[in-house]
Amino acid sequence: MTEIHSGTCFCGSVEIEVSGAPEAMGYCHCSSCRSWSAGPVNAFTLWKPENVKVTNGSELLGRFRKTEKSDRRFCTKCGGHLMTDHPTFGLTDVYAATIPGLAFAPGVHVNYAETVLPIRDGLPKLKDLPAELGGSGEAVPE
Ligand SMILES: [Zn+2]
Ligand SMILES: [Zn+2]
Repeated sequence: MTEIHSGTCFCGSVEIEVSGAPEAMGYCHCSSCRSWSAGPVNAFTLWKPENVKVTNGSELLGRFRKTEKSDRRFCTKCGGHLMTDHPTFGLTDVYAATIPGLAFAPGVHVNYAETVLPIRDGLPKLKDLPAELGGSGEAVPE
């Protein structure tokens, strides 16, 4: 049985579903995530794009692409954020808050060099991104 988790934007007009298990979960501390989310840290869950489906309201789904790395998707009715496609990584970040039914089990903090909210939870802290995603893979202290 494939596990399915559903979620919506802030107003509920756009509905999405993720199936199976995420490729990775964790926290991103980069300034782009903070600026886009208006929060101090972004809780991410990364999925293969084929495991993420928009099941309702796709006509309301807007996109903003500041760089080719991130295609940010939001509801044009309420402004609520849903996810960010990372085409160069071949992954889609569905924000943990978008799919509350998924048991969020973070494994790593990324872009920790940019943190404004240090979190001493004992998880690995990467200066930027893992080497397989083009980063240094370098760990930094909490
Ligand atoms: Zn909405
Ligand atoms: Zn980020």
